[in-house]
Amino acid sequence: MTAGPEVAPATGSTPALPADLDLEQLYQQAPCGYLVLAEDHTISAVNDTFLHWTGHHREDLVGTRFDALLPVGDRILFSTHCLPQLAVIGAVGEIVIDVLGTGGVRRPALLTAARTPATDGVPASTRVIVFSAHERRRYEQELIAALHRAEESDDRRAGAEAELRFLAHHDPLTGLLNRSGLLAEADALGGPGAGPSALLIDLDGFKAVNDSLGHAAGDELLVVVARRLRAAVRESAVLARPAGDEFVLLEVFADPADVEPLVERLIGALSAPVLVHGVEVVVSASIGVAVGAGADDTLEDLLRRADLAMYRAKARGRNRWEQYDPSSTDPAVGRLQLLGDLRRGVVAGELRLHYQPRVEVRTGVLAGVEALVRWNHPTRGLLPPSAFIEAAEESGLIRTLGAWVIDEAIAQAVRWQAEDPHAAPVEMAVNLSARQLADPALVGAVTGALARHRLDPSLLVLEITETALMGDPAGALATLSALRALGVGLAVDDFGTGYSSLTYLKHFPIDELKIDRSFVAGLGTDHGDSAIVASCIQLAHALGLRAVAEGVETETQRLALLDLGCDLAQGYHYAAPLAADVLRSWSRALSR
Ligand SMILES: [Mg+2]
Repeated sequence: MTAGPEVAPATGSTPALPADLDLEQLYQQAPCGYLVLAEDHTISAVNDTFLHWTGHHREDLVGTRFDALLPVGDRILFSTHCLPQLAVIGAVGEIVIDVLGTGGVRRPALLTAARTPATDGVPASTRVIVFSAHERRRYEQELIAALHRAEESDDRRAGAEAELRFLAHHDPLTGLLNRSGLLAEADALGGPGAGPSALLIDLDGFKAVNDSLGHAAGDELLVVVARRLRAAVRESAVLARPAGDEFVLLEVFADPADVEPLVERLIGALSAPVLVHGVEVVVSASIGVAVGAGADDTLEDLLRRADLAMYRAKARGRNRWEQYDPSSTDPAVGRLQLLGDLRRGVVAGELRLHYQPRVEVRTGVLAGVEALVRWNHPTRGLLPPSAFIEAAEESGLIRTLGAWVIDEAIAQAVRWQAEDPHAAPVEMAVNLSARQLADPALVGAVTGALARHRLDPSLLVLEITETALMGDPAGALATLSALRALGVGLAVDDFGTGYSSLTYLKHFPIDELKIDRSFVAGLGTDHGDSAIVASCIQLAHALGLRAVAEGVETETQRLALLDLGCDLAQGYHYAAPLAADVLRSWSRALSR
């Protein structure tokens, strides 16, 4: 350190008063009345504040007795109480008196006095300080008010901070934690032993709700889902909505076996239909579970594993849960492999169609078949559509695959007719995916295949899932109308699992409703399922449509359908999907 301001050395223990300080002014304008009394209690000095407050003039006061300024009662108090106290202990604390102003006006005041005894020829004197009680009270009130204001603003600031913290950590729509809130809470969950387990809950078909009913309806659905999840889990569980239609639950399980009942409870909680904007929506979710391994697990690790498991739950048909299995390969890698294989398999002729009979419930007569694609994989064997259709659909390969299915199904229907010209013609039902429905080339491809194989269009039924229809109702309506104009029959597949609006359903040119197998499963045993199937059949008939039950597996179900007046049924109770030649012998045996 070199240069710097020079500091003057301190001169003494008491700091010197500033040279320009006007002590006279301080005395005159002090916030209180200030008087000096001589030994005989006459006033020898008085400041401006006192004069201003009482209205007296200095020349009228100096030389008069101080107690002459007090009303009689206070004068007695002064002489019998204050003066003796001043003489004995030299001071009087705050006493309440009235001081007479000009015109005899009483001014309430607080009086403090101190006596300076005589020294070295200087006579004794008494200093009297008079505070206006009104002023004093006003000061006090102002102080208290200022204190309140300070406290309130502290409270407000604390409140605002808490609100900000809440907003930063919560999803405004559902009130659940958001991603950063999840991270913060996850830290708090850590403890000795196994770390928390993560459940990733992803709604199935949420996009369809948003697309068909609007975002406001989608939001409403998310709020209901959040409320149901919250009600289904323990208070200590951390529940978050980090994004879109994805929810995360973190929970510490004492026993890994506790996971399953919880997940089942969550699936159950979501299964009751939700009324959104006047439309009944059935919610389901695919849930991925990653059980906490240990203290080293980061939340990211845990969520990634839950995500992989959730992906598998989606791939295996949704509305189900899967637990992360470290031995399974990354599905993203598996998926690419699958697509490559499938692309090659389509070209190499590895696809097959199997045909599941559709039977008239009343008579038991074969009415038609549903063509179902199989992939005869060179190493994995015969694969059902659930193993590859979703991948095909996401890649665009579905166009090639779908066109092949339509062509082959039509060709087979014609082959059967040629083999058995006297048998009643069999209706051929073929599934269309959402992607195919949106494909502008679809109508042309169907027209071409019908013409090429010379099949009566009324023998072809195209099945479109409810979800695919509701994904783009306006586009679907145009395509369906064009298909209908060809004379082709149209069916709504998996009815009850999507989000149909009755208004649309009424306007779509459809011929049949295929009631989803999940409802048929509980038919005759589950009250709710029976009621749903009954109302689906009634709805179909009210709209002039054929009712078709999917997944009929028992005699009980068949009898219930017969009772409810269902038109057609299919399922293992009648027959599994059969290869073309097997189906032919099956139908011959049936008609014999
Ligand atoms: Mg189908």
